[in-house]
Amino acid sequence: MITPDSAMPEIERQKMPVDIACVGFGPATGGFLHTLQQGLMYPDGTPVAESKVMPGMPPQVICYERADDLGFGVSGVVTEGRAIRESIPDLDLAEIPLAAEVTSEKVAYLLDPIGASRRSGLLKVADTLIKPFTKKHAFTLPWIPPFLRKEPGMVFSIGQFCQWVGQRVTADGTIQVWPGTPVREALIDDDQVKGVRLIDQGVDAKGQPAAGFMPGMDIEAALTVVGDGPFGAVGRQLDEHFGMPEGHHSRDWAVGMKFVIDLPESCELEPGTVLHTMGYPEPEIFGFFYVFPDRVASCGIFVPSWFETPTRTAYRYLQHWLMHPWIWQHVEGGSLRSWGAKSIAESGRKGEPHLVGDGYARIGEGSGGTNVLRNSGVDEAWATGSQLGEAVLELLKAGKPFTRENLDATYVRRRRESWLEQESLKAENARNGFQKGFVRGIIGTALAGMTGGRLHLGGEIKKPSEHVPTLEDYYRGRVSAEEIAEIRKACEAKGAGLHDALMDKVGWPEIPLDGKLLVSQQDALLIGGKVQAPPGYADHVTFHDTTICETCEERICIEACSGQAITMNPEGGTPLFEREKCVHCGACLWNCSHTDPANPERGNVNFQASTGGFHSAEN
Ligand SMILES: Cc1cc2nc3c(=O)[nH]c(=O)nc-3n(C[C@H](O)[C@H](O)[C@H](O)COP(=O)(O)OP(=O)(O)OC[C@H]3O[C@@H](n4cnc5c(N)ncnc54)[C@H](O)[C@@H]3O)c2cc1C
Ligand code: SF4
Ligand code: SF4
Repeated sequence: MITPDSAMPEIERQKMPVDIACVGFGPATGGFLHTLQQGLMYPDGTPVAESKVMPGMPPQVICYERADDLGFGVSGVVTEGRAIRESIPDLDLAEIPLAAEVTSEKVAYLLDPIGASRRSGLLKVADTLIKPFTKKHAFTLPWIPPFLRKEPGMVFSIGQFCQWVGQRVTADGTIQVWPGTPVREALIDDDQVKGVRLIDQGVDAKGQPAAGFMPGMDIEAALTVVGDGPFGAVGRQLDEHFGMPEGHHSRDWAVGMKFVIDLPESCELEPGTVLHTMGYPEPEIFGFFYVFPDRVASCGIFVPSWFETPTRTAYRYLQHWLMHPWIWQHVEGGSLRSWGAKSIAESGRKGEPHLVGDGYARIGEGSGGTNVLRNSGVDEAWATGSQLGEAVLELLKAGKPFTRENLDATYVRRRRESWLEQESLKAENARNGFQKGFVRGIIGTALAGMTGGRLHLGGEIKKPSEHVPTLEDYYRGRVSAEEIAEIRKACEAKGAGLHDALMDKVGWPEIPLDGKLLVSQQDALLIGGKVQAPPGYADHVTFHDTTICETCEERICIEACSGQAITMNPEGGTPLFEREKCVHCGACLWNCSHTDPANPERGNVNFQASTGGFHSAEN
């Protein structure tokens, strides 16, 4: 038995041997496959090595992507694109729809024009002092700190970019990429990764065989490349099996939620414009606004795990952010084109797992690649993939096996010697200050940024569950305990989350839905996200210990769910989960006010790989 985590009884499964199996197709695997494909054949057309499973053929490389097509992921993106340009020196952005060179950058601190946000006394004083220098309730920094600057760089849609890369790497047939094929788990035998098991099809919600049952195939591979992003099930399985390196953890998270907007004719922003915001709708929430060609903008917010509230909702906050006068001046009259949400791992290098082992290598955001000082993950993900691609070619040419030692000497060595490592070390502690609030966080980040990481503000990194106060504590002085009790009772009776009623109560105005740009969350799921979930798969969100949920007061999993897929159970007890509404954002994984008794580093929600989610390649 080589499946440590399988809930299924032992059943006969088909087996398929390949040389290299990849999990997930994001920019990290894009970088890996691109580099591999470029070097797999000598100029005379002979392969650099022979396949071990198909003698006479080049190495057999296959990549499995969970989403129903390539490019259904969610991101910003503004990036310097150093690693991407290194891999593709003749990169022509005109070939990629919605891509443009960065033309201008601004960072703005947004004041609260409504008076509903929760601001500390210190921040209120700062707001008063800044006010005379603001325009449309925003103070624009006179210059961009060098560590944030992305010029020269590019903006693009991650969906369009991944589709473009996917076409390039599969064009000559040496590499296969299979979307709509989630990997259930890694096959681990005696601490060696021997391939992957695909998800079972034709099962009921609990994963038990039903009509059309098709057990997931076992893909046996000498090398498994894990590029399944920040909250991939396979990466987490490896973290649990092998443990994290001493002192490393993945406790810092944010959910990024965004709109892609067709801008109105009146909007004068040039393609390549990059705007970053902080301070509104709550001080803890950061915003981004990138202008693509053809009057399209990608804009959204990040709601972090250190935002100490039990109502960590993103959708309504995103609408209030959009309606801030400084943003609204550009989007008023526009229409919603697409919508998306996804978690981002903000531990950076502190979240780096064991990068290699016998038979496997980790790349991308799940390998701790994201730079939390520069707010940059795409280029870093590509760089890690490309470094692994070079390492694998070196080992193939030398005829050496994919052991921990050999992967260490080739891939990890390249990574440690590169700019990626140097910059991630500078960024390592940059965000620690946010553990103690917005102002300390901003000062700490600025210190780290200006001193190359030598100075920063400390702060013990708490688990996300330790950042969840009670509703009564969070709303103290604004909503009484009796009013909260009434709101809770009324919402529970309707099976609704509490955040809307509580936000109304503290003065957030109702969103004037116009059916065009400002739409309900359910309409965003249908119109913008085009969310789908094919039948025949198990529920991929479950609760580890339901007795904890039954007595849980905060129910932050419901408040924070990006797709309203986790809802209040009208009969009380454990929340309900609707697979069809899940957008696979991973936010429930860290938005829980309790921990799993079996593993205090994780919350009480279990999130597995499955099909479905967004059907938009524009995010
Ligand atoms: C809203 C938002 C805005 C962002 N803005 C920026 C920005 O402006 N600039 C920047 O540089 N970075 C930005 N980032 C971060 C950046 O998007 C990520 O760092 C980057 O996408 C990581 O790439 P990756 O390949 O490691 O993982 P991902 O892009 O997450 O790709 C992983 C892939 O694996 C698939 N997968 C997961 N599990 C499985 C499985 N079991 N089986 C098969 N497939 C699986 C997923 O579906 C996904 O396609 C942003 C992130 C978000 C959420
Ligand atoms: S998953 Fe966590 S937050 Fe949600 S009800 Fe259970 S214990 Fe509470
Ligand atoms: S249930 Fe789905 S949509 Fe909701 S938070 Fe979890 S992953 Fe996101």
